Amino acid sequence: MEPRVFDKVLIANRGEIALRIHHACKEMGISTVAVHSTADSDAMHVRLADESVCIGAAPASESYFNTAALLTAATITNADAIHPGYGLLSENADFAEMVSEHGFVFIGPSADHIRMMSDKITAKHTMKRLGVPVVPGSDGAVKDAAAARRLSDAMGYPVLVKASAGGGGRGIKIAESADDIGTAFATAQSEAKAYFGNDEMYIEKYLGRPRHIEIQVLADSHGGVIHLGDRDCSLQRRHQKVLEEAPSPALNAEQRDQIGAQVVEAVGTLGYLGAGTLEFLYENGAFYFIEMNTRLQVEHPVTEMITGIDIVREQIRIAAGAELSYAQDNITFTGHAIECRINAESPVTFTPSPGRISYYHPPGGLGVRIDSGIYAGYVVPSYYDSLIAKLIVHGKTRNEAIMRLRRSLHEYVIEGVETTIPLHQLLCENADFVNGDYDIHWLENFVGPEDQPHAR
Ligand code: ADP
Repeated sequence: MEPRVFDKVLIANRGEIALRIHHACKEMGISTVAVHSTADSDAMHVRLADESVCIGAAPASESYFNTAALLTAATITNADAIHPGYGLLSENADFAEMVSEHGFVFIGPSADHIRMMSDKITAKHTMKRLGVPVVPGSDGAVKDAAAARRLSDAMGYPVLVKASAGGGGRGIKIAESADDIGTAFATAQSEAKAYFGNDEMYIEKYLGRPRHIEIQVLADSHGGVIHLGDRDCSLQRRHQKVLEEAPSPALNAEQRDQIGAQVVEAVGTLGYLGAGTLEFLYENGAFYFIEMNTRLQVEHPVTEMITGIDIVREQIRIAAGAELSYAQDNITFTGHAIECRINAESPVTFTPSPGRISYYHPPGGLGVRIDSGIYAGYVVPSYYDSLIAKLIVHGKTRNEAIMRLRRSLHEYVIEGVETTIPLHQLLCENADFVNGDYDIHWLENFVGPEDQPHAR
């Protein structure tokens, strides 16, 4: 038996990811503390955790973002460490700092690294300096629409106006020509100000047919840095990922090793600690860095399925000061994995569909994994993100994974709320998807123009 690295971990999140972290903790012999809002008292992560603390009212701003309540919960339950999951406070450098100032271990990178990467201009500068290829664009911030226009005229259209503090696809606008740049700049900037309280903007060349390919890394405090290969997350709607797969059907082993080695070197030089993901656009054989996420990703299971590595377990071990359990040479990529994000929303209009789940039957069998906290009788609250389950399949080949995905989606029954299962069913029957022939704009065309019911 391995020695226990922590006695107790508080999970500062909800939904499927809280449960995912609970799983890793229990398998490491660690006790768990769940936190929840008044709307989540019946949630599965609360039921399964060893202890739970109600930290506030239903709106996330009053509970899951309530740092004082979270730190109090950690204090009264005598937790050793706090895992932030993804979203919520996971990329909030001030929170990471507060956690350590209060004597708890933050399961994630240093506040400095979070801060560096949450500012996308700094992140791009840093990666460029470390020899990682970035998307061509402005060298730093662009102060106003006139400056944006001068730069874009020189660079050539179309361009993207992006918020340095952006995230979740917010604060990004395209300018097709010089006529659009004024409006694009103004709308992106006001969105950035409203959502992030920061209106610093920059310009990037708009790539016409790229794929979104990202590299998962893990780094410990002993100089160990490894990459766990790539994920293809090109199937997106409104810059939000819908279906992810590993490995990318567009890369060969040589390209994977090459970008992986480049990323490992950069992350090592940075002295980064924990799990992280470098996101790239990939077009015509070239990679262009766009951002680094300093946390666990929603789509981490596809990497776990092809490597057999429990990423959350490694995160916890690293935070406790242990060495990585693996060296790069031990890592092999076996088969193919695909993840479908199942949201409680209309598969046609994408309007949220909260409510009571009246019947629930998840698929199972060889190579099928469900990460979800829902059950029959569970009420999907209207306050949070609509992700209710992730269906992940693994097969020896991509084709086997697709066949497994089709049968699993066919078996998956969720009644009482609308879900995006029918959209995934259509997707995995589609010839372009089956051929791996898609880019980041493909899904938007497939589901039809924004806010329009899609014609298929
Ligand atoms: P966010 O942090 O909001 O997710 P990103 O910078 O990661 O913002 O971009 C989100 C998505 O927008 C990307 O996955 C990609 O689909 C698209 N995108 C970003 N930059 C470009 C670009 N230069 N050209 C074309 N598409 C882009």
